[in-house]
Amino acid sequence: MTRLTRFFALPILLLCGLQLPAQEPKTLPLPDDRYKADILLVVAHPDDEAAATPYLARALDEGKRVAVAYGTRGSSGTNEAGAEQAAALGDIREIEARRALSSLGIANVWFLGGQDTASQNVLQSLANWGHGATLERLVRIVRLTRPEAVLTFLPGTFIGEDHGDHQASGVLATEAFDLAGDPTAFAEQLAAPMRRLEPYFENLRPWQAKKIYYFPDAADDAIFRGKGPEYSVKEISKSKQQAYWRIALEAFRTHETQAKGFLDSLSKMSEEQIEKMAVSDYGWADAQRFVLGKSLVGGSMTGDILENIQADAIPFARAQAIAETARLDLSVELAGTWSYYEEFRRAHGLTHLPHPEPPEIALQEGTTLVIPLWLRNQTAASREILLTVDLPAGWKLQSGGGKVIVSAKQVAAARVEISLSALADPATKKQDPQEVTVRADSNGQNIGAVKLRVALRKRALPQ
Ligand SMILES: [Zn+2]
Repeated sequence: MTRLTRFFALPILLLCGLQLPAQEPKTLPLPDDRYKADILLVVAHPDDEAAATPYLARALDEGKRVAVAYGTRGSSGTNEAGAEQAAALGDIREIEARRALSSLGIANVWFLGGQDTASQNVLQSLANWGHGATLERLVRIVRLTRPEAVLTFLPGTFIGEDHGDHQASGVLATEAFDLAGDPTAFAEQLAAPMRRLEPYFENLRPWQAKKIYYFPDAADDAIFRGKGPEYSVKEISKSKQQAYWRIALEAFRTHETQAKGFLDSLSKMSEEQIEKMAVSDYGWADAQRFVLGKSLVGGSMTGDILENIQADAIPFARAQAIAETARLDLSVELAGTWSYYEEFRRAHGLTHLPHPEPPEIALQEGTTLVIPLWLRNQTAASREILLTVDLPAGWKLQSGGGKVIVSAKQVAAARVEISLSALADPATKKQDPQEVTVRADSNGQNIGAVKLRVALRKRALPQ
């Protein structure tokens, strides 16, 4: 090669290089696998995870990935460990919950920002949490964690602790289960970035979880038996060489602000005494029971939670609402959370979920029972309705009985208020349920009746 040709060859080669498509194809980013979960637990308060920790410890042993979402940070109630209250207590309880879960090996934990609500009324909790904004946050967590199965409190009202916040976590988890796969729900979470530092669009993908299971917040679990899988907590964990209930109890030790008295007594017990306590007093050694809400992949009702789960994503399954039952032109119905749950089960295809019939509630002795009613008049004229109330001995009608007028084509809200007696035997902490009936008559004809079973307790959350 002459000196001259060498001089020209270099620029020609460079030119050729620019023209060749020598670049490797660019792989577009994938969802972050560190946040993928097999199981997403949705509960209300720090320490509620204990309702499922023995099962979660087992699932972790089997190599499953678990994520947890809490409705609130637990910033109300007494502090058993220190002076802090309110928001500062919430700061502490968030850490206590994170430590409990990290002792099991769970790091992916989120708090949805709801406020503690001390009542049995799920609608009060949903109002206090900011229902819409909290649902939006939970849908985001479902899309981020892409769970195969969701575990949560059973949305329903029962004699038991029946905490409105627990129920709210179950309502929101069910709504998120049905919405996260919908490409039109909170679509701003799904939109692709429009610029390099995208401030609004999240680039998540819709996600349809495959199964949802519930655990009830009821005192008596008879109606839930056989409605889902059951797990012994006495089996020994391969990774920790301890029974699952014992691992769960160990994880619970972080909750000092909620249970310091109990934890202090625990630290003074021998292993043998702990075992005796677990079996006799606190239900730590009871089997864990779940209720199958929905499976979009088949399987049996009592089969394993992850039965029939395959690695592939499944398409969005729009919730199939079940048709409304026909009503008479003139009718009376129990309203409030009871009618809400009736509609909720219908809207989410959950009419098989166990619920007590007649409906029930436990209330503190000497307080007021409120029976909310819907009075429906679909006739073309105003109608007079007479409400009469049958009460157990010693209970008194405060207000709401007598005649009311419902205008034509209207659904009106009415309310009966009843003063409850004290417990028959002050030494007992509870009394068997008694029945209250509200009868509705119009023009001398009975148009329906509402029955409610009410149990008195020494202590209960407000209605
Ligand atoms: Zn709780």
